[in-house]
Amino acid sequence: MSPLDVRISDCAGFCWGVERALEMTYQAAEEAPAPVNTLGPLIHNPGVVADLRARGVGVVSDAARIRGGTVILRSHGVPRDTREILDGCDAVIIDATCPFVTAAQQKAARLKEDGYLVVILGEPDHPEVLGIRSYAGEDSLVVESPGDLPAKLPGKRIGVVVQTTQSEERLAELVAGLAPRARELLVHNTICNATQQRQSAATAMASEVDAVVVVGGKESGNTRRLAELCAAKQPRTYHVESPEEIEPRWFRGLRTVGVTAGASTPPLQIEAVAAALRRIDP
Ligand code: SF4
Repeated sequence: MSPLDVRISDCAGFCWGVERALEMTYQAAEEAPAPVNTLGPLIHNPGVVADLRARGVGVVSDAARIRGGTVILRSHGVPRDTREILDGCDAVIIDATCPFVTAAQQKAARLKEDGYLVVILGEPDHPEVLGIRSYAGEDSLVVESPGDLPAKLPGKRIGVVVQTTQSEERLAELVAGLAPRARELLVHNTICNATQQRQSAATAMASEVDAVVVVGGKESGNTRRLAELCAAKQPRTYHVESPEEIEPRWFRGLRTVGVTAGASTPPLQIEAVAAALRRIDP
Protein backbone atom coordinates (compact mmCIF):
# COMPACT_ATOMS: atom_id res chain seq x y z
CA MET A 1 0.00 0.00 0.00
CA SER A 2 1.30 3.51 -0.76
CA PRO A 3 1.65 6.05 2.06
CA LEU A 4 -1.18 8.37 2.98
CA ASP A 5 -1.67 11.32 0.68
CA VAL A 6 -1.56 14.21 3.19
CA ARG A 7 -3.09 17.53 2.12
CA ILE A 8 -2.83 20.70 4.14
CA SER A 9 -5.77 23.06 3.86
CA ASP A 10 -5.33 26.64 2.66
CA CYS A 11 -5.41 29.20 5.51
CA ALA A 12 -4.64 26.58 8.20
CA GLY A 13 -3.16 27.93 11.42
CA PHE A 14 -2.41 31.39 12.76
CA CYS A 15 -4.78 34.16 11.76
CA TRP A 16 -3.71 37.74 11.33
CA GLY A 17 -4.96 38.79 14.80
CA VAL A 18 -3.06 36.05 16.61
CA GLU A 19 0.14 36.69 14.64
CA ARG A 20 -0.14 40.37 15.49
CA ALA A 21 -0.63 39.60 19.22
CA LEU A 22 2.36 37.24 19.19
CA GLU A 23 4.60 39.77 17.47
CA MET A 24 3.59 42.44 20.01
CA THR A 25 4.36 40.00 22.83
CA TYR A 26 7.77 38.93 21.47
CA GLN A 27 8.67 42.58 21.09
CA ALA A 28 7.48 43.33 24.64
CA ALA A 29 9.59 40.42 25.96
CA GLU A 30 12.67 42.21 24.55
CA GLU A 31 11.87 45.83 25.22
CA ALA A 32 9.06 46.46 27.73
CA PRO A 33 9.49 47.05 31.47
CA ALA A 34 9.67 43.80 33.46
CA PRO A 35 7.89 41.81 34.65
CA VAL A 36 6.04 41.20 31.38
CA ASN A 37 2.81 39.26 31.72
CA THR A 38 -0.17 38.45 29.57
CA LEU A 39 -3.59 38.72 31.18
CA GLY A 40 -4.67 35.11 30.77
CA PRO A 41 -2.83 32.76 28.37
CA LEU A 42 -2.06 34.70 25.16
CA ILE A 43 -3.65 32.01 23.00
CA HIS A 44 -5.24 28.63 23.65
CA ASN A 45 -2.12 26.72 22.76
CA PRO A 46 -0.02 25.13 25.53
CA GLY A 47 3.16 24.97 23.37
CA VAL A 48 3.10 28.69 22.58
CA VAL A 49 2.41 29.61 26.21
CA ALA A 50 5.42 27.47 27.30
CA ASP A 51 7.63 29.14 24.66
CA LEU A 52 6.61 32.59 25.91
CA ARG A 53 7.34 31.57 29.48
CA ALA A 54 10.84 30.54 28.40
CA ARG A 55 11.28 34.07 27.04
CA GLY A 56 10.28 35.53 30.40
CA VAL A 57 6.62 36.30 29.62
CA GLY A 58 4.37 35.10 32.43
CA VAL A 59 0.61 34.82 32.76
CA VAL A 60 -1.49 36.65 35.36
CA SER A 61 -5.16 35.99 35.85
CA ASP A 62 -6.33 38.88 38.01
CA ALA A 63 -6.03 42.46 36.74
CA ALA A 64 -6.52 43.83 40.27
CA ARG A 65 -3.25 42.22 41.43
CA ILE A 66 -1.04 43.76 38.76
CA ARG A 67 1.69 46.02 40.15
CA GLY A 68 4.06 47.72 37.74
CA GLY A 69 5.81 46.08 34.79
CA THR A 70 3.94 45.40 31.56
CA VAL A 71 0.64 43.72 30.91
CA ILE A 72 -0.41 42.48 27.48
CA LEU A 73 -4.08 42.18 26.58
CA ARG A 74 -4.64 39.18 24.32
CA SER A 75 -6.46 39.12 21.00
CA HIS A 76 -9.78 38.10 22.65
CA GLY A 77 -9.99 41.50 24.39
CA VAL A 78 -11.08 42.16 27.97
CA PRO A 79 -14.34 43.23 29.67
CA ARG A 80 -14.91 46.93 30.17
CA ASP A 81 -14.41 46.84 33.98
CA THR A 82 -11.08 45.01 33.57
CA ARG A 83 -9.90 47.70 31.17
CA GLU A 84 -10.89 50.37 33.70
CA ILE A 85 -8.91 48.62 36.46
CA LEU A 86 -5.87 48.36 34.18
CA ASP A 87 -6.10 52.00 33.11
CA GLY A 88 -5.88 52.93 36.79
CA CYS A 89 -2.82 50.79 37.59
CA ASP A 90 0.84 51.68 37.15
CA ALA A 91 1.69 49.00 34.55
CA VAL A 92 2.44 49.66 30.88
CA ILE A 93 -0.52 48.28 28.92
CA ILE A 94 0.03 46.71 25.52
CA ASP A 95 -3.36 46.19 23.92
CA ALA A 96 -3.17 43.27 21.48
CA THR A 97 -6.97 42.99 21.20
CA CYS A 98 -7.73 42.03 17.61
CA PRO A 99 -9.34 45.01 15.83
CA PHE A 100 -12.18 42.70 14.69
CA VAL A 101 -12.95 41.95 18.35
CA THR A 102 -12.81 45.64 19.22
CA ALA A 103 -15.31 46.28 16.40
CA ALA A 104 -17.71 43.66 17.86
CA GLN A 105 -17.40 45.31 21.30
CA GLN A 106 -18.12 48.74 19.82
CA LYS A 107 -21.13 47.49 17.87
CA ALA A 108 -22.55 45.87 21.00
CA ALA A 109 -22.10 49.15 22.92
CA ARG A 110 -23.80 51.12 20.13
CA LEU A 111 -26.77 48.74 20.00
CA LYS A 112 -27.18 49.05 23.76
CA GLU A 113 -27.03 52.86 23.60
CA ASP A 114 -29.64 52.83 20.83
CA GLY A 115 -32.06 50.83 22.99
CA TYR A 116 -31.80 47.40 21.39
CA LEU A 117 -31.90 44.16 23.30
CA VAL A 118 -28.49 42.75 22.40
CA VAL A 119 -28.30 39.06 21.53
CA ILE A 120 -24.75 37.70 21.24
CA LEU A 121 -24.20 34.53 19.28
CA GLY A 122 -21.28 32.80 20.99
CA GLU A 123 -19.97 30.56 23.74
CA PRO A 124 -21.20 32.05 27.05
CA ASP A 125 -17.95 31.47 28.96
CA HIS A 126 -15.49 32.38 26.21
CA PRO A 127 -13.30 35.38 27.14
CA GLU A 128 -14.10 37.16 23.87
CA VAL A 129 -17.83 36.80 24.54
CA LEU A 130 -17.47 37.97 28.16
CA GLY A 131 -15.72 41.06 26.80
CA ILE A 132 -18.40 41.77 24.18
CA ARG A 133 -21.14 41.19 26.73
CA SER A 134 -19.68 43.79 29.08
CA TYR A 135 -20.47 46.38 26.39
CA ALA A 136 -23.91 44.94 25.57
CA GLY A 137 -25.54 45.60 28.95
CA GLU A 138 -26.83 43.47 31.83
CA ASP A 139 -30.00 42.48 29.98
CA SER A 140 -28.12 41.13 26.93
CA LEU A 141 -28.44 37.45 26.04
CA VAL A 142 -25.72 35.03 24.97
CA VAL A 143 -26.92 32.08 22.92
CA GLU A 144 -25.34 29.31 20.88
CA SER A 145 -28.52 28.48 18.94
CA PRO A 146 -32.15 29.65 18.72
CA GLY A 147 -33.00 26.88 21.21
CA ASP A 148 -31.16 28.86 23.92
CA LEU A 149 -33.49 31.87 23.58
CA PRO A 150 -35.94 32.36 26.47
CA ALA A 151 -39.65 31.69 25.85
CA LYS A 152 -40.35 35.40 26.33
CA LEU A 153 -37.81 37.87 25.00
CA PRO A 154 -37.32 40.96 27.18
CA GLY A 155 -37.51 43.27 24.13
CA LYS A 156 -38.84 43.45 20.58
CA ARG A 157 -36.09 45.62 19.06
CA ILE A 158 -33.25 43.18 18.80
CA GLY A 159 -29.64 43.71 17.80
CA VAL A 160 -27.32 40.79 17.09
CA VAL A 161 -23.54 40.67 17.32
CA VAL A 162 -21.47 37.55 16.84
CA GLN A 163 -18.35 36.07 18.43
CA THR A 164 -15.78 36.53 15.65
CA THR A 165 -15.08 32.79 15.31
CA GLN A 166 -18.69 31.58 14.91
CA SER A 167 -19.88 29.99 11.67
CA GLU A 168 -22.17 31.61 9.09
CA GLU A 169 -24.51 28.59 9.39
CA ARG A 170 -25.08 29.24 13.09
CA LEU A 171 -25.71 32.93 12.43
CA ALA A 172 -28.25 32.09 9.71
CA GLU A 173 -30.05 29.72 12.14
CA LEU A 174 -30.19 32.35 14.86
CA VAL A 175 -31.48 35.05 12.51
CA ALA A 176 -34.18 32.66 11.24
CA GLY A 177 -35.18 31.94 14.85
CA LEU A 178 -35.25 35.61 15.89
CA ALA A 179 -36.92 37.19 12.87
CA PRO A 180 -40.48 36.03 13.64
CA ARG A 181 -40.12 37.17 17.27
CA ALA A 182 -38.76 40.68 16.68
CA ARG A 183 -40.42 43.93 15.63
CA GLU A 184 -37.04 45.15 14.44
CA LEU A 185 -33.96 43.00 13.92
CA LEU A 186 -30.54 44.57 13.29
CA VAL A 187 -27.77 42.07 12.60
CA HIS A 188 -24.07 42.92 12.74
CA ASN A 189 -22.20 40.03 11.20
CA THR A 190 -18.98 40.37 13.18
CA ILE A 191 -17.58 36.98 12.10
CA CYS A 192 -14.07 37.76 10.86
CA ASN A 193 -12.77 36.95 7.39
CA ALA A 194 -9.94 34.81 8.73
CA THR A 195 -12.47 32.48 10.31
CA GLN A 196 -14.67 32.35 7.23
CA GLN A 197 -11.72 31.62 4.95
CA ARG A 198 -10.35 28.90 7.23
CA GLN A 199 -13.78 27.31 7.62
CA SER A 200 -14.61 27.38 3.88
CA ALA A 201 -11.22 25.96 2.88
CA ALA A 202 -11.43 23.23 5.55
CA THR A 203 -14.98 22.15 4.72
CA ALA A 204 -14.25 22.10 0.98
CA MET A 205 -11.23 19.91 1.70
CA ALA A 206 -13.22 17.68 4.10
CA SER A 207 -15.59 16.74 1.26
CA GLU A 208 -12.68 15.52 -0.86
CA VAL A 209 -10.62 13.40 1.55
CA ASP A 210 -11.09 10.10 3.42
CA ALA A 211 -10.30 11.58 6.84
CA VAL A 212 -9.53 14.96 8.41
CA VAL A 213 -7.15 15.86 11.22
CA VAL A 214 -7.77 19.20 12.90
CA VAL A 215 -4.74 20.47 14.82
CA GLY A 216 -5.03 22.82 17.77
CA GLY A 217 -5.63 23.33 21.49
CA LYS A 218 -8.54 21.37 22.95
CA GLU A 219 -9.50 24.61 24.74
CA SER A 220 -9.50 26.61 21.52
CA GLY A 221 -13.07 27.46 20.56
CA ASN A 222 -12.28 28.16 16.91
CA THR A 223 -10.37 24.86 16.56
CA ARG A 224 -13.26 22.92 18.10
CA ARG A 225 -15.71 24.60 15.72
CA LEU A 226 -13.48 23.79 12.76
CA ALA A 227 -13.53 20.13 13.84
CA GLU A 228 -17.32 20.28 14.17
CA LEU A 229 -17.75 21.71 10.65
CA CYS A 230 -15.34 19.19 9.11
CA ALA A 231 -17.09 16.32 10.93
CA ALA A 232 -20.37 17.36 9.31
CA LYS A 233 -18.74 16.75 5.90
CA GLN A 234 -16.40 13.90 6.85
CA PRO A 235 -17.34 11.82 9.93
CA ARG A 236 -13.74 10.53 10.16
CA THR A 237 -12.56 13.84 11.65
CA TYR A 238 -10.08 13.84 14.55
CA HIS A 239 -9.05 16.80 16.71
CA VAL A 240 -5.50 16.50 18.05
CA GLU A 241 -3.06 18.83 19.80
CA SER A 242 0.10 16.91 18.93
CA PRO A 243 1.41 14.10 16.70
CA GLU A 244 1.52 11.72 19.72
CA GLU A 245 -2.29 11.60 19.77
CA ILE A 246 -2.54 10.22 16.24
CA GLU A 247 -3.59 6.58 16.06
CA PRO A 248 -2.59 4.78 12.84
CA ARG A 249 -5.76 2.61 13.05
CA TRP A 250 -7.86 5.71 12.23
CA PHE A 251 -6.44 5.60 8.71
CA ARG A 252 -6.52 1.86 7.98
CA GLY A 253 -7.41 1.30 4.33
CA LEU A 254 -7.67 5.05 3.59
CA ARG A 255 -5.83 6.97 0.87
CA THR A 256 -6.16 10.68 1.58
CA VAL A 257 -6.15 12.73 4.75
CA GLY A 258 -6.67 16.47 5.02
CA VAL A 259 -5.03 18.59 7.71
CA THR A 260 -6.37 21.89 8.95
CA ALA A 261 -5.69 23.94 12.07
CA GLY A 262 -7.28 26.58 14.26
CA ALA A 263 -6.23 30.22 14.36
CA SER A 264 -4.06 29.64 17.44
CA THR A 265 -2.03 26.74 16.03
CA PRO A 266 1.62 27.50 15.14
CA PRO A 267 3.04 26.35 11.76
CA LEU A 268 5.54 23.98 13.43
CA GLN A 269 2.74 22.10 15.17
CA ILE A 270 0.84 21.65 11.88
CA GLU A 271 4.00 20.44 10.15
CA ALA A 272 4.76 17.97 12.97
CA VAL A 273 1.29 16.42 12.63
CA ALA A 274 1.53 16.29 8.83
CA ALA A 275 4.96 14.61 9.09
CA ALA A 276 3.57 11.98 11.51
CA LEU A 277 0.69 11.29 9.11
CA ARG A 278 3.12 10.86 6.19
CA ARG A 279 4.92 8.15 8.17
CA ILE A 280 1.74 6.05 8.53
CA ASP A 281 1.43 3.00 6.33
CA PRO A 282 -2.32 2.60 5.92
S1 SF4 B 1 -9.84 34.84 14.36
FE1 SF4 B 1 -10.24 36.84 13.43
S2 SF4 B 1 -11.04 38.08 15.12
FE2 SF4 B 1 -10.03 36.33 16.04
S3 SF4 B 1 -7.96 37.05 16.42
FE3 SF4 B 1 -7.97 36.05 14.41
S4 SF4 B 1 -8.24 37.72 12.93
FE4 SF4 B 1 -8.87 38.46 14.95
